[in-house]
Amino acid sequence: MAQRQEDWQRTHMADELPLLVGQEVILNGWVQRRRDHGGLIFVDLRDRSGLVQVVFSPDTAVCFTLAEKIRSEYVLAVKGYVCQRPAGTENPRLKTGFIELEAKDAWILNTAKTPPFYIEDNTTVDETVRLKYRHLDLRRPKLQQNLAIRHRLAQAVRNFLTRHGFLEVETPILTLSTPEGARDFLVPSRLNPGKFYALPQSPQLFKQLLMASGLERYFQLARCFRDEDLRADRQPEFTQIDLEMSFVTAQDVRVLVEEMMVTLAQEVLGRNIPAPFPTITYRDAIARYGSDKPDLRFGLPIVDAGGVFVDTNIRVFQQALKQNGCVRGLKAPGCAGFSRREIDELTEVVTQLGAKGLAWIALEQENKVRSPLAKVLTDQELADLVNLFAAREGDLLLLVAADEHTAAMALGQLRLYLGHKLDLIDENSMAFAWITQFPLFEWDDERGRYVAVHHPFTSPVEEDLEYLETDPAKVRAKAYDLVLNGVEIGGGSIRIHRREIQERVFEALGFSSTETEQKFGFLLAAFEYGTPPHGGIALGFDRLVMLFARTNSIRDVIAFPKTASGACLLTGAPGSAEPKQLAEVNLILPSDQGS
Ligand code: ASP
Repeated sequence: MAQRQEDWQRTHMADELPLLVGQEVILNGWVQRRRDHGGLIFVDLRDRSGLVQVVFSPDTAVCFTLAEKIRSEYVLAVKGYVCQRPAGTENPRLKTGFIELEAKDAWILNTAKTPPFYIEDNTTVDETVRLKYRHLDLRRPKLQQNLAIRHRLAQAVRNFLTRHGFLEVETPILTLSTPEGARDFLVPSRLNPGKFYALPQSPQLFKQLLMASGLERYFQLARCFRDEDLRADRQPEFTQIDLEMSFVTAQDVRVLVEEMMVTLAQEVLGRNIPAPFPTITYRDAIARYGSDKPDLRFGLPIVDAGGVFVDTNIRVFQQALKQNGCVRGLKAPGCAGFSRREIDELTEVVTQLGAKGLAWIALEQENKVRSPLAKVLTDQELADLVNLFAAREGDLLLLVAADEHTAAMALGQLRLYLGHKLDLIDENSMAFAWITQFPLFEWDDERGRYVAVHHPFTSPVEEDLEYLETDPAKVRAKAYDLVLNGVEIGGGSIRIHRREIQERVFEALGFSSTETEQKFGFLLAAFEYGTPPHGGIALGFDRLVMLFARTNSIRDVIAFPKTASGACLLTGAPGSAEPKQLAEVNLILPSDQGS
C-alpha cells in the first residue's frame, strides 16, 4: 500500500523523549549512524533538537529489512515506543542517553548519497569542502547552535530597543556612496544608462536623515557592503546593529548600549556582566596597551621608562630619546628563566612591527641580572627600573626604544603574545571597554591629505573647533568605540547637525565645494531645515554573535559566508553575465571590446 506522508508526521522532537517513557511516538529526522549488533540494528536519529537511539529488532520491527538499507543522512520517519535503556547501556553524555526508541515501523522519506564528510562537530575536513556543501555543514549541531544564538541575540536586540522607544526602519540597499573608508560595490542602472547605484557601506546618511525627519530613535539590523581586500575574518557583506538617537550626548548613547549589552548577556547567555564599562581615552589605550582595541582580560600594561634613561650611556636609548622617541617596556612576570630561543621569539614579534630590537633584563636573583645591557646599565638605572615596573626576582623586563608609534605597535603585539604564551587570558571573561577622545582626523600619506578617523559626519569637540583650519590634527572627535576582549565590536559618535560646521569639516578633508554639493548636498540641505542634535552607534552583529557563541571565525555564525576572495563556494557567486544582460545595463567588458 502506498505510504502517505500525513501518516508519518512527527509527534515529538528527539529531546522530548526522556519524559515520554512508555508512550508511542513518531520521529522525523536524519540518520547520523547505523550500527549492526548481534541481530539488532541501532540507528542514531538526529533532528534539530538532538540525537536519539532507535533500535530495530527482527522481532518487533515490521520494517527490519528496510532498516538494513538505511545509510547515513537518509531522512527517516520512525514509529515506536520510548523505553528505558537496559541497565549498563546508558550513555550519560547524551541528553537522551537513558532512553531509546524501540522501532515498530519506519519509512524512508528520502535517501542520501554518501556525504563528502561526516556530519559531526569535530570534523577536520577542509573548510573549502565544508563551504561547498554548506547545506550539509549546517547540519552540524554546533553550527545550528550558532545560528540559534544569532537568532536569540537579534530577538533580544529588537525587544530591548523596542522597549526603549526605538522604531525599526529599513533604509535603501540601492543608494549612493556612504563614505566609511572602504570601496563601494556598484550596481549599474538599466533605466539610467551610465549611472550606478552603490550598495550602502552603512545606513549612516539615512539614519541621520531619519533624525532630521523627527523619528528621534531609529534602529535596524542593517546589512552593509564593503568591497575591501578581505582579511581572514572579514566578509564583503555583514550585519550591524545600527542605531541613532536625537537630543542625546555621547554619554547617553553609551549608557544605552551598556544596558543593551548587559541585557543581551543576561538573556542569551544567562550571564551577569558588570557595568559601567571602563572608559579609556584613545591616547591612554595606545600608551598603555599599544592598541585602540585593547584586550583587557589581562594586565601587562606598557610602562614608559624614558624617565629612567634621561642621562643614560646606553646609545640606542639616548638616540631614541633625543629624536623625540621613547623607551617603553613590559614586565613579563616570572620569565627571567626564558631561554635564548624564547627571547629570540619575543624579539621577532617586535621587529616584525618595525622596532629595531628588544632590550631585555632578566632579574635572576637579587643583585644578579642576565642581560645584554648588563655592562652598560648603571646600578641606579636598574634600581629605578625595578621600582618603576614594581619588578621582583624572577621577572623579565623587556624594553623597546623607538618612535612612539612603532614602540606602541610593537609592545602592543608583544603584550598579546605574552598574554597567550603565559596563559593569562581567562577565556570565560567578557572584558568590555569604551575608547573615547579619538582624533577627528589622521594624516594619510598616500592621499596627501587628512582623512576622517571615523567618518566625515562625526562632530568635533566644541573646544577644538577653532583648530579645524589651523591645526586639524589637534581636533578631537565626539566619537567612541566599544571593545570586547580585544575586538572592536562597534563605533559611533555624536554627529554634526549644522551646515556650517559640516562644510568646514569637508573642507579640512580637502573636498571641493562642488564635490561636497554633488555628494552630500541633500544632507547639507536637510541641516538647513531644523535637524536636531543627534548621535548613534553601529555594532558589528556578526562579531558579537561570534564572541557570544565562543567561536573564533565569523564564518561560523553566518549561514552562507563567502571566502577570503569574496566567493560563495556553494552557489558559485560571483558569476558571469550574459551578453544580453550586459548590453541592457550598457556595460562592455574589456574582453568584448573590438569583437
Ligand atoms: N556608520 C558607522 C559605521 O558603520 C557607525 C556610526 O557612526 O554609527 O561604522
